[in-house]
Amino acid sequence: MSPSHQLPKNYDIEEVERRWQSTWRDEENYFDPDSPKPRFIIDTPPPYPTGNFHIGNALNWCYIDFIARYKRMRGYNVMFPQGWDCHGLPTEVKVEETYGITKNDVSREKFREMCRDLTIGNIEKMRATMRRLGFSTDWSHEYITMLPEYYKKTQASFLQMLKAGDIYQSEHPVNFCTRCETAIAFAEVNYVPRTTALNYFDFDGVEIATTRPELLAACVAVAVHPDDERYRDLAGKKLTVPIFKHEVPVVEDAVVDPEFGSGAVMICTFGDKTDVYWWKEHDLELRKAIDRQGIMTATAAPYAGMSSEECRTAILRDMQEAGILKRQEELEQRVGTCWRCKTPIEILSERQWFVKVHQDEILESARKISWTPEYMFTRLENWANSMEWDWCISRQRIFATPIPVWFCAACGETILPAEEDLPIDPTVDRSKTPCPRCGASEFIGDKDVLDTWMDSSISVLHVTGWDGTNKPPLFPAQLRPQGHDIIRTWAFYTILRAQALAGGHPWDQILVNGMVLGEDGFKMSKSRGNIIAPEEIVGQYGADALRQWGAGGAATGSDIMFNWNDVIAASRFQTKLWNIFRFIMGHLDAGTENPAPVTELTDRWLLVRLSDTVAEVTAAMEGYQFDRALRAIREFAWNTLAADYVEIVKGRLYTKESSRASACSALATTMDVLCRLLAPIIPHFAEECYHNLAGRSVHKETWPDFAYADDEARRHGDLLVKTVAELRRYKHDKGMALNAPLGHVMIYAAEPVDDAGDAGRALAADAHWSTGTPQLEEVVSGVNFNMGIIGPSLRKQARGFMEAVQALPPEQLKNPPSTVTVGGEEIPVPAGSFTPKVAYRVAGEEVDVLTLGDVVVTIGHSS
Ligand SMILES: [Zn+2]
Ligand SMILES: [Zn+2]
Repeated sequence: MSPSHQLPKNYDIEEVERRWQSTWRDEENYFDPDSPKPRFIIDTPPPYPTGNFHIGNALNWCYIDFIARYKRMRGYNVMFPQGWDCHGLPTEVKVEETYGITKNDVSREKFREMCRDLTIGNIEKMRATMRRLGFSTDWSHEYITMLPEYYKKTQASFLQMLKAGDIYQSEHPVNFCTRCETAIAFAEVNYVPRTTALNYFDFDGVEIATTRPELLAACVAVAVHPDDERYRDLAGKKLTVPIFKHEVPVVEDAVVDPEFGSGAVMICTFGDKTDVYWWKEHDLELRKAIDRQGIMTATAAPYAGMSSEECRTAILRDMQEAGILKRQEELEQRVGTCWRCKTPIEILSERQWFVKVHQDEILESARKISWTPEYMFTRLENWANSMEWDWCISRQRIFATPIPVWFCAACGETILPAEEDLPIDPTVDRSKTPCPRCGASEFIGDKDVLDTWMDSSISVLHVTGWDGTNKPPLFPAQLRPQGHDIIRTWAFYTILRAQALAGGHPWDQILVNGMVLGEDGFKMSKSRGNIIAPEEIVGQYGADALRQWGAGGAATGSDIMFNWNDVIAASRFQTKLWNIFRFIMGHLDAGTENPAPVTELTDRWLLVRLSDTVAEVTAAMEGYQFDRALRAIREFAWNTLAADYVEIVKGRLYTKESSRASACSALATTMDVLCRLLAPIIPHFAEECYHNLAGRSVHKETWPDFAYADDEARRHGDLLVKTVAELRRYKHDKGMALNAPLGHVMIYAAEPVDDAGDAGRALAADAHWSTGTPQLEEVVSGVNFNMGIIGPSLRKQARGFMEAVQALPPEQLKNPPSTVTVGGEEIPVPAGSFTPKVAYRVAGEEVDVLTLGDVVVTIGHSS
């Protein structure tokens, strides 16, 4: 134990946190493959390396770090890896901005290199923030999805699922962003409300309403409801499309809503998902009127070359001039937009790669996972049940994992590389074997690349040791922590891929965290100016305060509003704890090295409460309820230890009595346990205290299994604490200083209580406990008048009445007579006009009496 005079008065957050961060070694957090301990493998999210580890990330990683540290203390061999999910459009866009180029200005290889360089720099910045927040990351298990050792596994996973028939290529309508010029998956489409015009026009004698007149060139049929009397004669006939003059059939379909518009709708390839359904259902022609850049094609002549917006304006004008546009109405609708750039998506029919979605298998696998909070499972379930199309995994971009496929230039056969040759880039590398079908050796490499979720959805296979072929040796992982915003993508795809590639559910548990909202309650965004960066918080209040905010801000899974007051409160708690700790250390110094037995009531009571706290915090940590854990720790440290215990026992600590050693033992145990409870949440603070206390690292200690049962200490201690608190309030109410002498105090309780003199010292009183009942003598010492009654009912007689009452003997003050004599006149005594003042005496000494439930306290007036 170090002498307390070495403990600085103020806790210098910056100094302490930096010092421990440079003292701790990365190796201490490495997963040990040879350890006999039970494994706890965490499938940490690989963030997108934007260079900015934002506060939402910080919250998520706080949770992960609490768990990783807690599990290590519980004896697990923990793997807390860190990945980086590098590929994707945002980096491409950033590179284009930074260098003032478009992706087509340089070679694909050069462009990828620029993206890689930018990404490496960004990863560096984010690593620095993570280290400053004190996360116990296992840096020996870091992975970077853009590096060959990782993406060769993405390619291997593609080939395996292709061979198993779970991946196929097909011409199929897909969601397409014409600004990003790429296909996107349904999970990447956001639906937003907008107001648009519903245009009614004459379609060869039939009135039709549409919101997408620019798709008229792509019209392939008109559909009506089979029971719609209005169109009975139309079914099976052909109609001529206005302006474009091609003929289309009229089909009957029960999905048509006769109430919408005129009840007759045009089917275009493709206005929306229903068009895709009808197109398949009625085996209709395919007319592509919009291309990948959102430009009208030759099919849309005379509008070819216009953007779809320009075409819309032009076509409406032409309809107007031709007299076929009847009227327009406003319509509220929900339109699908690109998650990335918010451009409304088009549905284009393209040759793309798809992953088969087997909803039932995914849900069966998801049910084997324990979900925290439980209701998050429903989100996955709803999403799975709403999926109608397979997962489109090909993208028409550059910075991504290449699709490892060639096509034979002669016969079109698909040629696959051998798995040992991975990774490959088919646009650069050549197939080693000729075409198995026609023997030709001219190949065209697939220029498309993979959706980045194809990289990140095998993170769990990677961290559990997948070599690209067999079931990973450490599969499944124990925990997936992630945000609720990526349940339908990362969680869903991972479950799908784990099932396909490893034949099982990916993790035993999934822990879903909420989003962080700005102080104004809105999602943080640049435009609102409500973004708070973790560095800003750490710079002012330190990592531990931010971590406390993360733990205490909200129940796990709920969205959490950022609030500076929470951070300030967290910082104050540390200051308070530091002061308690310094005080305690000051007294432990003088103690002996061998802890004395804990014998005294107050000390035993503290250990009972400590034991309760350990049980509560342990249960909370097991259930990932960090807010509950932190609340229990704060409540114990602030109220039980500082406000109750220390205040009562302080006097004894300054004595030379033998009972002092009992208090020192209880305090040493309490601080030891408290540091361990705090270690996962505020690792720097816990380390600083524990090192001073025990001379070693708290992070190598086990979780406290401290249990202490003592029913008598609980009952008597509660009585003692309550009594002392009441008497302190009594002093306060009397205007006495807290250390002012209180005189002779008798505490009458049902059971004999031995407090080792603590109550007396705490109250500066000559205090004694007794099991008897006080022999109270009630004395009437005066009278209290109720002027509210006397004034109005007696008026002028009031003064005389009061004099008469004061002259009554004490017995009559207690039992008022019905009349009194005022100025020779008998006047009635109004009910409730006075009460006797009662004082108490014990053995002749006048006392004050306090009643606290079953306990009666008498306080002597003479001291
Ligand atoms: Zn887009
Ligand atoms: Zn061939």
